[in-house]
Amino acid sequence: MTGGYVQVAVPVPVDGLFTYRLPDGVDAAPGCRVQVPFGPRRLVGLIVAGPDPEPPPALGGRAARAVTQVIDATPVVDGQALRLAGWISDYYMAPPGECYGLLLPPRLANTAPHEVGVPRARIEERVRLLPAPGPAAAERLGPRMEAALAWLDAAPGAPTVDEVRAATGIGRDVLRRLVDRGLVAVESRAVHRDPFEALEAPPDTAPALTAAQSAAVATVRGALGGYRGFLLHGVTGSGKTEVYLAIIEAALAQGKGALVLVPEIALTPQLVARFRSRLGECIAVQHSGLDPEARHEQWRRVAAGELPVVIGARSALFAPVQNLGLIVVDEEHEASFKQDTSPRYHARDLALVRGNLEGAPVVLGSATPSAESWANVERGKLERISLSARVMDRPMPVVEVVDLRSAAYADPERLFSTVLLDVVRQTIAAREQVILFLNRRGFASFLLCQECGAKLDCTACSVTYTWHRHRGRLVCHLCDESRPRPAVCPECRRDGLIEVGFGTEQVEARLAELIPDARIARMDRDTTRGRALERLLARFRGGEVDVLIGTQMVAKGHDFPNVTLVGVLLAELGLGFPDFRASERTFQLMTQIAGRAGRADKPGRVLVQTYLPEQYAIRHAVHHDTLAFLAEELPLRVARRFPPATHLALFRLSGKDPAHVGQGATALARALTSAALPYQGRVRVMPAQPAPIERVKHRWRFQVLVNADHRGALHQVLTDTRAEWGEGRLAPGVTVGLDIDPLTFL
Ligand SMILES: [Zn+2]
Ligand SMILES: [Zn+2]
Repeated sequence: MTGGYVQVAVPVPVDGLFTYRLPDGVDAAPGCRVQVPFGPRRLVGLIVAGPDPEPPPALGGRAARAVTQVIDATPVVDGQALRLAGWISDYYMAPPGECYGLLLPPRLANTAPHEVGVPRARIEERVRLLPAPGPAAAERLGPRMEAALAWLDAAPGAPTVDEVRAATGIGRDVLRRLVDRGLVAVESRAVHRDPFEALEAPPDTAPALTAAQSAAVATVRGALGGYRGFLLHGVTGSGKTEVYLAIIEAALAQGKGALVLVPEIALTPQLVARFRSRLGECIAVQHSGLDPEARHEQWRRVAAGELPVVIGARSALFAPVQNLGLIVVDEEHEASFKQDTSPRYHARDLALVRGNLEGAPVVLGSATPSAESWANVERGKLERISLSARVMDRPMPVVEVVDLRSAAYADPERLFSTVLLDVVRQTIAAREQVILFLNRRGFASFLLCQECGAKLDCTACSVTYTWHRHRGRLVCHLCDESRPRPAVCPECRRDGLIEVGFGTEQVEARLAELIPDARIARMDRDTTRGRALERLLARFRGGEVDVLIGTQMVAKGHDFPNVTLVGVLLAELGLGFPDFRASERTFQLMTQIAGRAGRADKPGRVLVQTYLPEQYAIRHAVHHDTLAFLAEELPLRVARRFPPATHLALFRLSGKDPAHVGQGATALARALTSAALPYQGRVRVMPAQPAPIERVKHRWRFQVLVNADHRGALHQVLTDTRAEWGEGRLAPGVTVGLDIDPLTFL
């Protein structure tokens, strides 16, 4: 059939699909891209449904505009992917154009049609000196040829043509003459653009699995071929990665593909290297370091079935893996699986949806499962598989609490208790390594004027600047704005500014004073930009560093065999956040960081400094006891009516004029409240209120929280009020964003 009407997802933040007409004689199917007129512009959209011979009734007799060009002769996105994007748009109530856009790599999604094409891999030409001189070698050579040969002889490996030309100044003509005389060879090969290819990955074979690992593998292997959801709950060091590798190999053996999601791929070069070693060339590493060309090339190879395994952060969920046989979500409790811009999807939850749509088992792995996943086990939606012991019968590290209320301090700033400092010294003396953890970067939390009580706030945000002594600047952690430190208080002009609170930078400085000969490094957002993280991890693993001080980045699944001591400087740092998940996050972080100790044949020791040793998150983390923590946490969620017992939707409003934002939020809360009325208290609309951080980047922020006992009722209330919260409907200059299942409330 040719001609007819198609439904097109257009990349604009507007609700709904748009109807276009295919000109007579033109054919196209769902999953094909089309160029369409949109207002005065032309945009690239994706056909989602059609073509239908009749115009849809919603057009109301109006004429549909015509598609100006069909870009793809055959669909670039398959039907299952379209269904997944449609599901996202419905569930998260997000504009379809944004949701379907998730399916396409940036080049396909954003470029004008004539620029779209499949890029070839980059061709690299390398010059190699030939060992046996050819017959013409005895001829006299020009001085430039002689010089080039001498340089090549001294150069290690095979340099590229560009390198040879840059170093010796010869032109392509001279190079060609060298080739003609059989003195050198120029070899071309296609280079696929993948920064992780440079990673060292010698081939590796699987170790023998423990009985628990084997049982886990057998369970998942038995589930291949259909949807089942698993929660793989394995204590730190229990060898979850080996289970992942074995079940991926099982899927590959059946001719199926696999998808592996990790929280932040830049933090896990070691995990990626292990996957590469074991699975070899069949793995695509999806990484933000890939340029758009490289991402496109990778996407094309995955879609063509050349790369059956994809590993990446949350957006890898949309990789066009062919014949999907398995999805693994590692560290499923991590908040980074949730996207913080529209569409605000949670990749762990979507992994279950995609597995369900495509008939593949989904394995969610964690040492510290989220309350949501645990509740899903209790509801029978996930099956629990447990690895309750470390591999090689290694003991769990011993965790000791240092009660800061009664401890003796080693320094006047009260960062180090004497007991922690002594153990750090002993560990270094034994030539073993230490991790010190504090989840706050910078030197001091803020500057306070002792004379007038003023705090130095960011001019654009309602938070204090953090003092970064190394950079010599005050930095806003929300908007990154920075300024030099003023000599006197800007409020009272007196010399009263003091530093309050401490961050990783200060821990580093104090420790250097306390143990001058220790080799110390710091790992946080300030020290790990670009490739610095990989180098830092390599230095630490190579034993060039005795003490690694870091924020939560050091807690993320790293395996440092020589680390026998982990020190937590202030365990309760995250408990002050206005968030019902504060205890859960603290428990997870403490348990994960404690798990970094003693992962090889040396036993580990963990010292936790805290003013709140009785707090239940800290108490249970000390015993690595996830079950006991959740047994205490989940009833609290039920009693306080928070997820996973209930379902949340959070509206965030912002604008330059606080009065407009406040009025918009109040109007929205009123509309939601009346829509919730029929549900008699099962859908609760909280009064509009300023966000805990009232202002960010000069914009004032308000929130409206909806809390419901039933998912369906929540969805209905939001649907009924959709006309109210559409873009630009509330008040002039006020933007509104809806976050279903929000993870942050700041
Ligand atoms: Zn002052
Ligand atoms: Zn700021």
